[in-house]
Amino acid sequence: MTPLEIALLSSVLTAAVIVPIMMWQGKRGRHRADQDMMRTMRKIANERTESQVILASLDFGIIAYGSDDRLIASNPVALEALSIIPDTLSGFLDRFGTDNGMRAAYYLGSDDVSGEISLNNRFLRLVCQQRPVRSNGQGFGGHVITAQDFTQIRRQEERRKDFVANVSHELKTPLTTMKSYSETLLDWGIDEKERDEIKTDVARIYDDSIRMERLITDLLLLSSIDSSGVGIQATLFDLTDCARQISDRLAAQARDKDISLGIYSMTRGPVVFADKSSIERILTNLLVNAIRYSRQGGRVEVYIGTVVDDVYVKVKDNGIGIIDNELANIFERFYRVDKTGSRQFGGTGLGLSIAQELAKMHHGRIEVESEHNLGSQFTLFLPSATRFLQKVLIEFSHKEKPQDEITRAAAILISSWLGEQDGADLDGTEALDLRTLLEIINEKVNNSMDISSVI
Ligand code: ADP
Repeated sequence: MTPLEIALLSSVLTAAVIVPIMMWQGKRGRHRADQDMMRTMRKIANERTESQVILASLDFGIIAYGSDDRLIASNPVALEALSIIPDTLSGFLDRFGTDNGMRAAYYLGSDDVSGEISLNNRFLRLVCQQRPVRSNGQGFGGHVITAQDFTQIRRQEERRKDFVANVSHELKTPLTTMKSYSETLLDWGIDEKERDEIKTDVARIYDDSIRMERLITDLLLLSSIDSSGVGIQATLFDLTDCARQISDRLAAQARDKDISLGIYSMTRGPVVFADKSSIERILTNLLVNAIRYSRQGGRVEVYIGTVVDDVYVKVKDNGIGIIDNELANIFERFYRVDKTGSRQFGGTGLGLSIAQELAKMHHGRIEVESEHNLGSQFTLFLPSATRFLQKVLIEFSHKEKPQDEITRAAAILISSWLGEQDGADLDGTEALDLRTLLEIINEKVNNSMDISSVI
């Protein structure tokens, strides 16, 4: 072979070996680059998902605009609250920042770019802050807007203001009467008025002082309910007996208006576990109202019965009734359908709201049905003692802590019963099976009317 042939042959052989190696290496490099690229993309996707999860879990709205004013991110709360998220910061300020001064503050370079808006019956507080928003690992200036819903706080504030205004008004009215009548008597009335006239004036002063006293008692009760501080003395008692006692107490009041007052029990011994004075207070309020808002010669009926696991007392009258669009309001504090009428009868406008709160405190409720000019029926529903105590026992066996006064009282009663069983105490739920315990409760409630003092 000539040297030229040898050189040619060796370069062909070298190429045959090197080219596949290079191709293989190139492929490997590309593969590695592809893998790197995939890894980076996966990382970005993961980071994006993580930040989306974080944004979605926030309970306030958040919107971020980049340094070019363009929308970078927002969360579902922001979209829900604002309905629309403009694509640019200037668009946002035009839409949501003109009336509340945010837009002006932003363009004037103020440190405080914030404002309140009211949208779809909700109140939102918007705060726009300059933030170093990051994108693709690079930091640059942008803006983050937070939207906090403060509807609840605003409503509470309004309710508090209304409440204070109502209390002041309700106290001022009888106080003004008392002041002017006593002034007249002191100035000249005692010397110049007839004995009967003086007596009428003093009676007027007395009536208004009673009204003030009633109002203050109601207010104190409401305040203790609000702070869950009502001292509960829960016992087992028969709801029919309780309703009968109240109706007996009010019989004279009904007779004065020639109103027939009937009581009908549709069930035998509907036992409840409750604070008796609270239930008496609810029933008195419902019955007094039924008599108060019935015409002379009217009819008031009280029915006691059971539905599923609840027991109920229904107070039905054929009085003046309540128009449909007032029904939703009558449980509000100080609400009266006919302001002058109710005041004349001595109502405080707090009775039904207290009754409803007390019913709720006993895990019950009051429902109303009424037809204008035909009459109303108010029904108090309470859980039957067996159902309530069995429910508490089950919570007990799941080691749940009592959440309110009545549950706590029920837990104490149950543990005292369990203490009487062999091998069972507060944690007796482990010693005896649940079915046996539920039967014990059933039996105890059925026999409860023999027990004079339960706790
Ligand atoms: P009040 O002390 O003024 O009676 P309540 O809270 O007990 O206050 O009742 C609120 C309002 O609901 C009453 O002012 C009255 O307008 C209406 N109302 C309550 N019960 C009846 C009823 N049985 N029939 C007609 N209206 C009623």
